[in-house]
Amino acid sequence: MSKSKTPKKAKAAAKWVYTFGDGAAEGHAELRELLGGKGANLAEMSKLGLPVPPGFTITTDVCAAYFANGNALPDALRPQIEEALVRVGAMTGAAFGDEASPLLVSVRSGGRASMPGMMDTVLNLGLNDATCEGLARRSGDARFAFDSYRRFIQMYGDVVLGVDHHLFEDVLDNFKNLNGHGSDTELTPEDWREVVEDFKELVETELGEPFPQDIYAQLWGAVGAVFSSWNTARAITYRRLHDIPDDWGTAVNIQAMVFGNMGETSATGVAFTRNPSTGEKAIFGEFLVNAQGEDVVAGIRTPQSLSERARLEMGDKAASLEALMPVLFTELTDVCDRLEARFSDMQDVEFTIQEGKLWMLQTRNGKRTISAALKIATDMVGEGLISQSEAVMCVEPQEIDKLLHPTLDPDAERHVIATGLPASPGAATGEIVFDADEAEALAAQGRKVILARTETSPEDIHGMHAAQGILTTRGGMTSHAAVVARGMGRPCVSGAGRARIDQEAQTLNVDGLVIAKGEVVTLDGTSGEVLKGEVALRQPELSGDFVTLMGWADELRRLGVRANAETPHDVAQARDFGAEGIGLCRTEHMFFEPERISAVREMILAADEDGRRTALDKILPMQRGDFVKIFEIMGELPVTIRLLDPPLHEFLPNEGEDVADAALALGVEEKALKQRIAQLKEFNPMLGHRGCRLAISYPEITDMQARAIFEAACEVTQSSGRAVKPEIMVPLVLARNELDFIKARIDAVAEAVGRERDVTIDYQVGTMIELPRACLRAGEIAKTAQFFSFGTNDLTQTTMGLSRDDSGPIMSDYLARGILEADPFAQLDEAGVGELVAIGAARGREARENLKIGICGEHGGDPQSIDFFERAGLDYVSCSPFRVPIARLAAAQAALRARAGKGTK
Ligand code: ADP
Ligand code: MG
Ligand code: MG
Repeated sequence: MSKSKTPKKAKAAAKWVYTFGDGAAEGHAELRELLGGKGANLAEMSKLGLPVPPGFTITTDVCAAYFANGNALPDALRPQIEEALVRVGAMTGAAFGDEASPLLVSVRSGGRASMPGMMDTVLNLGLNDATCEGLARRSGDARFAFDSYRRFIQMYGDVVLGVDHHLFEDVLDNFKNLNGHGSDTELTPEDWREVVEDFKELVETELGEPFPQDIYAQLWGAVGAVFSSWNTARAITYRRLHDIPDDWGTAVNIQAMVFGNMGETSATGVAFTRNPSTGEKAIFGEFLVNAQGEDVVAGIRTPQSLSERARLEMGDKAASLEALMPVLFTELTDVCDRLEARFSDMQDVEFTIQEGKLWMLQTRNGKRTISAALKIATDMVGEGLISQSEAVMCVEPQEIDKLLHPTLDPDAERHVIATGLPASPGAATGEIVFDADEAEALAAQGRKVILARTETSPEDIHGMHAAQGILTTRGGMTSHAAVVARGMGRPCVSGAGRARIDQEAQTLNVDGLVIAKGEVVTLDGTSGEVLKGEVALRQPELSGDFVTLMGWADELRRLGVRANAETPHDVAQARDFGAEGIGLCRTEHMFFEPERISAVREMILAADEDGRRTALDKILPMQRGDFVKIFEIMGELPVTIRLLDPPLHEFLPNEGEDVADAALALGVEEKALKQRIAQLKEFNPMLGHRGCRLAISYPEITDMQARAIFEAACEVTQSSGRAVKPEIMVPLVLARNELDFIKARIDAVAEAVGRERDVTIDYQVGTMIELPRACLRAGEIAKTAQFFSFGTNDLTQTTMGLSRDDSGPIMSDYLARGILEADPFAQLDEAGVGELVAIGAARGREARENLKIGICGEHGGDPQSIDFFERAGLDYVSCSPFRVPIARLAAAQAALRARAGKGTK
């Protein structure tokens, strides 16, 4: 198929229509780009010999042509559609427009990616006054014929002609009231005939012209409307939220109607081949007797359970399909099994039963919770449906996050103050705040906050990210807050309708109870409850399925996975989550603790090296103690410790009171302290006196840190009998000479400590590669460095000349205008930063064959970026502890893709 640049003159020879039906099809499941997911799978089901009403798919190419053509169907399409309609008619023993036996069709949307309910579909097309009479005669059921006709007028009126469906519903309600009918089923055929007349009148009043009786005009109108529904506001929003490109377009499926509304032996329903919440292997779904397609989801009547077991569990009174139509139930479960076998995945299907015969109308991979995903993947391996590698590919790494977060302890006392929707699972506790900026500011100080808003908008994203949990008083399960919170893995309660936020007073008010800003609340995003105060949390228990799947992932991956952690708590957490080492232990965090900061300041204020050494001597034992704890937890696993990195001014107070207090605590004059602060002030600290530049100016700091590391290493090696493996990492190197100078100091300390303690420590000295120059000079640097770790946060900043902390507003414009595809601080910029990583890795390895190479920026926990690091041949990624399981799975998927020879893009 050729991508014509001038679609208006596209060649008539282009194949735009693919037929299916009667056990055959021109398309198949792999053609989803061209036929859309629905069309490709209808073709596949037909080929499998499943009962699919015949029909045809108009390709997504036509959608592009339609838009390029100013929203008009290309002329060459019509003969292809007419021909296909004749074939469908022949398969069903009917003909489009034939008054004796009219063929009715549905006109259905269906793009490459599933966008459930976002686009339009028209059912029962082909009905007009004449064919409706014909249908009534042929079926011997006038009620059915006019019921179908009134449904068609409403749907067509709404979707194609733009007459709001509420108007039709009002007309029907009026009619029922006037005639004393409670429910639709009480209407006689004559009643429906009258409703049809009323509906037609409504259309004429609204539009000033009669409802179209020309069935071809109906058809072209519906096809155009379905293409146009690609661009409704809700479809566009959905695509934004799910990263679906706008230029994919939708296909259109035209399919012979089957009727679930032909009385008590007819029905319509939806089914999952397994339980989508638990993953249990049992068909799960709902159906309605004597109803058509949309009725099940529309909530007009309460649907019934498919299986008897589900009926009992739900406590339904109405009979199950299993009890009502046992033979059809068995047939449906057989179809489900065959679909699972073909698609190797859990399916979500639509079906209709017409007078005791089952018809399949749709199948697609079913959406499921993460626990269901794990169970289904591992079960399917056990059933021989998929391999371990396929199972590993089945689970979305980001989803794992949802399993790792704490939930409320069920035994804890709870004081519920408001209830909303369980919009995003997990529990969170924190001080309530009502402003996104404030949430971010407090979180930056290490405080835990809950962001409460009437509703959220994209401007609140940074605050939502900084918050432990999100609460809104308006909006549903698909509100901005709910969608974004689920995406971020933040617990969220949305639409807590009884609660009111008073922005002026900065309070949350619920039935007379007032919660002021700063008060602690707890959210249970799993139940939708808002609780007063702090409630005990229970740590998540990871299921057997999780452990099994992660075990497979670990066997399949090539990349190692380490963690960025420095506190004993985080280090232990990381090990529990399967980290194979520490890839980044930031020592400056250890300097900020209250008892230490004054010694650090004393060092900074010292007039000379002797003064600095005296202060450093005070820090040494504390720093050694930190490393002892980390080595004890990590045992023989490698621990990469980065030497002091930030500029010294970060350790000094900012201004005003803090300076006075600090001066007092240090016993120096406030003026002297102010002077030193002024001295250290830099125009551009990110590019200033920091990283290894500190070690060049003040090598005694390196001496102290190296001593702390080696003494701790000796201590733990002796006490535990396990040889610990420190890897000392020098930050912000731009030339080999820097590293030579610093490595010489480190080696000297190592030798001295080794002699004193009579222990030999197996250590390495390497560097963090975070400057473009370091990537270019990697060949030289690797002559000294024993390992590299790409610091991709700073490398992104320095490559792009873009400050991460200032990039927020810039990024939102760049992303909105499509200038960048993704935030380069979240997802590695493969084209630019990635090339530097590749150059650095290649030149480094050329100089030193066994050079170990890792990455320790935020990107180490991002699945897309991990895919790149796999292709770039790095040895390991390092990320925050909670991302370790995500990285393990993503690394396995990356390895599998690399072996199959394809990337994620
Ligand atoms: P959506 O993508 O919103 O689910 P569909 O195209 O799947 O839209 O159709 C909407 C409803 O109409 C579904 O319940 C579907 O099963 C039903 N339906 C579609 N085509 C037919 C048909 N040819 N016969 C009977 N029901 C149909
Ligand atoms: Mg559907
Ligand atoms: Mg850095």
